[in-house]
Amino acid sequence: MTDTYLKLVNTGFTKDLSKKLGLPRPAILRRFDPSKPLVPGPVLVLGKGESADDLAQLLLSWDQDVRRHAMPKEKLGAILIVLDDAAAPADLGEPVLAAGAALRDLAPGGRVVTVSRPAAEAQDPAAAAARQGIDGTLRSIAHELRGGATANGIVLANGTQATAPSVAAALRFLLSGKSAYVSGQFVTVGSDAGTLPADWNAPLAGKVAVVTGAARGIGAAIAKVLHRDGAQVIVVDVPAAGEQLAKVANEIGGTALQVDITREDAADRILAHAAERYGHLDIVIHNAGITRDKLLANMDESRWGSVIAVNIASQLRMNETFLASDGFSPEGRIVSLASTSGIAGNRGQTNYAASKGGVIGMVRATAPLLAPRGGSINAVAPGFIETDMTAAIPALTRQVARRLSSLQQGGLPVDVAETIAFLASDAAAGVNGQVVRVCGQNMVGA
Ligand code: NAD
Repeated sequence: MTDTYLKLVNTGFTKDLSKKLGLPRPAILRRFDPSKPLVPGPVLVLGKGESADDLAQLLLSWDQDVRRHAMPKEKLGAILIVLDDAAAPADLGEPVLAAGAALRDLAPGGRVVTVSRPAAEAQDPAAAAARQGIDGTLRSIAHELRGGATANGIVLANGTQATAPSVAAALRFLLSGKSAYVSGQFVTVGSDAGTLPADWNAPLAGKVAVVTGAARGIGAAIAKVLHRDGAQVIVVDVPAAGEQLAKVANEIGGTALQVDITREDAADRILAHAAERYGHLDIVIHNAGITRDKLLANMDESRWGSVIAVNIASQLRMNETFLASDGFSPEGRIVSLASTSGIAGNRGQTNYAASKGGVIGMVRATAPLLAPRGGSINAVAPGFIETDMTAAIPALTRQVARRLSSLQQGGLPVDVAETIAFLASDAAAGVNGQVVRVCGQNMVGA
């Protein structure tokens, strides 16, 4: 499961050799470390409107060095381009070119973040053009960055201000090492909902979370990150994975529940366990999932049916029970695992893509049911992540899959877990019904 090539191009003589040969040179990504600064240098805030001032103030309140103009030859940790007031394409040139001039000074692992409004909500064609143009520009910047730097955008729905709690939460996530493998993506903040944590290092303090499929891989990483962020965690997996599951539970001082999520009573058993051990349940992470790949021409009923049953039908049934139960907190948060295959499709994965596309549809339709009670539901769509699931891919295909993203490497389970922890926090309550890809800006598909 280790990416030997990534190590080789970053160490010793093979580093110089790869440079000379012009081979892809993926960087070691800047991942979250509480002892390190939020960003690796000052933050340049570009834009002239009120939102740019508000965001500069916010950064100052986080003790960041803020610049409103680039200083010659100064290394920057991040560039924030505030474009929410763009009314026509001509408005983009000045701030975007100023960002371009500063890009050479962006530190390794640096960040570019845009703030804009949704094109779909613009009445005026020129405003819609400007807003959609930001989409194309940001995604292109993400393709151009090197050294493990990323570019992502925050989109403010009409009526939502830059001072909304979820804008702060999204900005902090995108600037930090927690978003190491998220690039070329937009996070839409749809409302002013949400409350900022008393301690940014314990945003889930007092919460009880359940993670399905937590015996290994991404699920085990999610359980660990939620625990690190202050939550008490119930880990769920099939009885056959009981031993591994108990290990994960012990490591994080959580509790293990052996249940197959396709069982009719799975959600009731989770609610009963949560009520008995903790008195409440606040966060549900639908992570358990399987693949049964075959070209559609060779697909049988059992492969199709089992993938649909585990990956989507179980989630639909469980959500119905959670939403109807007093045992699930009114301000509950649900995060569901989709996949880039569910967005772009993938050869040999018609069943899997149906289930993961299904997750995205379910999340969008469930969001309005949760919003009035202060809850939220979102999906995370991983690309190529280094786990047992992807270790089963033939070696050459696996090597190619790793390089086919802007970051030229696979992500780690922790990268998916960090995005989930962000969406599971109360500060992110204004992000609802969204899909966040954790794919290093995979070249394949949308
Ligand atoms: P994995 O196979 O390593 O782990 C999945 C876990 O889910 C296992 O512990 C398994 O026992 C459990 N599980 C399966 N069926 C279950 C059931 N019926 N009830 C309870 N538990 C069950 O997979 P992973 O790579 O860690 O993937 C986790 C999630 O992320 C899945 O939903 C997967 O589709 C998704 N995902 C993974 C990748 C990737 O690259 N690894 C990419 C996109 C999406």
